[in-house]
Amino acid sequence: MVARPGAGWPGDLATARTPVAADPAEVVHLASTAKTLDELTARQSVCRACPRLVTWREDVAAEKRAAFRDEPYWGRPVPGWGDPEARIVVVGLAPAAHGGNRTGRIFTGDRSGDWLFAALHRAGLARLPISVSATDGQELLGVRMLAAVRCAPPANKPTPAERDACAPWMLRELELLRPTMRVVVALGAFAWAAVWPALARLGYDVPTPRPTFGHLRETAVAAGPLVIGSYHPSQQNTFTGKLTEEMLDAVFARAAGHAVWPSPG
Ligand code: SF4
Repeated sequence: MVARPGAGWPGDLATARTPVAADPAEVVHLASTAKTLDELTARQSVCRACPRLVTWREDVAAEKRAAFRDEPYWGRPVPGWGDPEARIVVVGLAPAAHGGNRTGRIFTGDRSGDWLFAALHRAGLARLPISVSATDGQELLGVRMLAAVRCAPPANKPTPAERDACAPWMLRELELLRPTMRVVVALGAFAWAAVWPALARLGYDVPTPRPTFGHLRETAVAAGPLVIGSYHPSQQNTFTGKLTEEMLDAVFARAAGHAVWPSPG
């Protein structure tokens, strides 16, 4: 079972009348014609353009992990979430099968999110240090989170075709956030690579060749946002010590410090 649009899932902006993208061309059309973040959010959340990912996310939602067998699963694309006038945009890879794909909110209900929300809270960018469900009272302060690919992929690995199919959702979201966006934090190399084509499509003069990903590596886009790389707070990185709390805190301290700057243009 997946959450039916308009059936009362907390925060669900879609209804039975929300148009559904059935292929990549329809993603382009529905993303580019969404007039507001709410409209974009609703449309993203019912997308069915990638058959492999639709099957995977819905199968996961039907089978469930044993620890969550009594909980409903979202089982739909996980849209961007947070402050509609965000100065900091955090970009991840894709929702986790039993995290965002379960709770319906990005980075909510998984170990990566535990690290991420704790760090955002320490930086004064999230109201609570944890994020466990769509009704937990969490609020992002000047931050919006989104994923480069909106559906949970098997083994956390979307195909290049799926990445490209989903790109218009992020492109339009960044376009709608553009008036306030000062900083983009890319969590991991996949997100880092996805950000540059989107900024180029928005007309920013992005460097060629593209800047190399690294932790705390940053590039100031002319008349645009400061793009900061961060190791992804995946269990692989946090368990091994590749990413520590101090390292993640340094990213958000840098982001928060820059975000207070006035618009570059
Ligand atoms: S990954 Fe993106 S384009 Fe593909 S079905 Fe999910 S929301 Fe749609």
